[in-house]
Amino acid sequence: MRRKIIKLYRQADKQGFAIGAFNFSTNEILKGIISGAMSKKAPIIISMSEGERAYFGCEESVAAYKAIFRKYPHVVLHADHTKTFEEIKKVVDAGYPSVHFDGSRLEYDENLKQTKQAARYAHRHGVFIEGELGGITGGSTTHTESLKDVIKEDMLTKPEQAKEYVKKTKVDSLAISIGNAHGLWKEQKKLDFDRLKAIKQATGKFLVLHGGSGTLAEDYQKAIELGMNKININTDVRVAFARALLQGVTNRKDDVPYHYLGEVSKTVARVVEDKIIIFKSDNKI
Ligand SMILES: [Zn+2]
Repeated sequence: MRRKIIKLYRQADKQGFAIGAFNFSTNEILKGIISGAMSKKAPIIISMSEGERAYFGCEESVAAYKAIFRKYPHVVLHADHTKTFEEIKKVVDAGYPSVHFDGSRLEYDENLKQTKQAARYAHRHGVFIEGELGGITGGSTTHTESLKDVIKEDMLTKPEQAKEYVKKTKVDSLAISIGNAHGLWKEQKKLDFDRLKAIKQATGKFLVLHGGSGTLAEDYQKAIELGMNKININTDVRVAFARALLQGVTNRKDDVPYHYLGEVSKTVARVVEDKIIIFKSDNKI
């Protein structure tokens, strides 16, 4: 699968679009993401963090992915923010075709060492791996603080260090910190485009934007023009899901779950479709 995934990123890089990566933790969200991707004929990445996997089930997520893949082979299952080698081994062995090793909380040398080990294991099993350099703050939820107070200069990815990191670790793609943060914050996110440009030039790698939710459409598109190849969306979907679920449960006419949960999936699909249009990944399969 690694070769096929690299081909997809290369297509995105050449054709100037970003692959949308959407997190899920329930079947309703998963159904909505796939339905949105199918209706827009877009390649799509479905992601699960460690917490989401613990809830949904790691083996269960692989089984669901395989069933979806048979109907729509433009989907990639991705293990998001995997923080230890043991957990990388677990998802690779379970059948994840793409993984993210997140050693960003570690000192640089330790991040380098552990990412290298994770990349070696992933590649030996034909699995695509994303590394991470720089700190991306926050959880995928709504925050009350201001971004100015949480994003510090030393958390941002340094182009020269990124060059060394990708060369030594041999990761296939890189998650970077350029003013992005997980979740929704008091103000709009402001991306450091000069830094993005410098990182792309220094590394020549496929780049990933985490914490995409709450970014202006024009900023997404500028980032894509400068070489951003994958954009992660979680909070925008979570917020839409919670609202639709509450409404569905409140207004239900009977107690049959699939009579009101279908609308919840449709709401998720609409969020996904909107992002696909912004990311210009529609009609790319
Ligand atoms: Zn993330």
